[in-house]
Amino acid sequence: MFEFLHKSANKDHCMVVTQKDQEHMSPMDGTTGMIHSFETFGALDGPGLRFVVFLEGCPLRCVFCHNRDMLDLKDYMKMTPAQLLATVLDYKPYFGKKGGVTVSGGDPVFQPKFVLEFLKLCRKNGIHTTLDTSLFTSEKNLKTLVPYTDLFMVSLKHFDSEIHRCLTGVPNEIILKNIHTLNNIIEQGKKLKKATPRLWFRYMVLPGYTDTSKNLKALVEFLHKTKNWELIELLPYHTYGAYKWEKLGLKYTLSDIKPPEIKDILKIKKMLEKEGFKVLLGD
Ligand code: SF4
Repeated sequence: MFEFLHKSANKDHCMVVTQKDQEHMSPMDGTTGMIHSFETFGALDGPGLRFVVFLEGCPLRCVFCHNRDMLDLKDYMKMTPAQLLATVLDYKPYFGKKGGVTVSGGDPVFQPKFVLEFLKLCRKNGIHTTLDTSLFTSEKNLKTLVPYTDLFMVSLKHFDSEIHRCLTGVPNEIILKNIHTLNNIIEQGKKLKKATPRLWFRYMVLPGYTDTSKNLKALVEFLHKTKNWELIELLPYHTYGAYKWEKLGLKYTLSDIKPPEIKDILKIKKMLEKEGFKVLLGD
């Protein structure tokens, strides 16, 4: 059904992680947040109406990143967890039963201490919490975040670790291990009838890479094996953020890759639905 276009990564597409990138890829230690921006009525990043916090910084360097301007830790607002909560509380009346806060970025795991303190405050104030993350973090960090996170929206960029490294600058083993750890925590919690986080999987359809028959087979096997996925969100690759790379004087290496056609996305959606998964088309 799907052509297997790239058996390995095309070197011209790969991320070249510079010294400057490396300096900005190690997680921050502080409890004061570096915030890029907010979206006050987000409808795409989790259930219901949400206050979306875009944090600065990410431990990955994806070649298709549409928020490239958030990764160099340049222009950001500093806020304590309590200050951020005070801003969020103004919008709480609009969240309804389903909505809440989504911490996105960048990647929330880049500022784990700040995020943990903020999530604790949300929990105290009865606000639903979602993390939009790669899970490229230590197991210790993951385990501290779990009790205060209602929903994890996890994205994995490729199942082949070498291709993952080409596309993101880092291998995928830590992410896979953390997804398994998260699953085990959920399984144990269910047995003990404890509240556990919900899990959504976000999968970008990048023509020639993640829509190959080999990668899709790996996706299906992985989703069955890890279980607990409430929803699979298919995100068609797009180039909306490419201009940001140019503005920063950086090369956008995927300029020869066109966004996927809707008919191909629908084929993947149908295939996953046949496998028993609930699938949503994302943006
Ligand atoms: S994980 Fe997200 S924010 Fe981080 S580099 Fe990749 S696309 Fe950008």
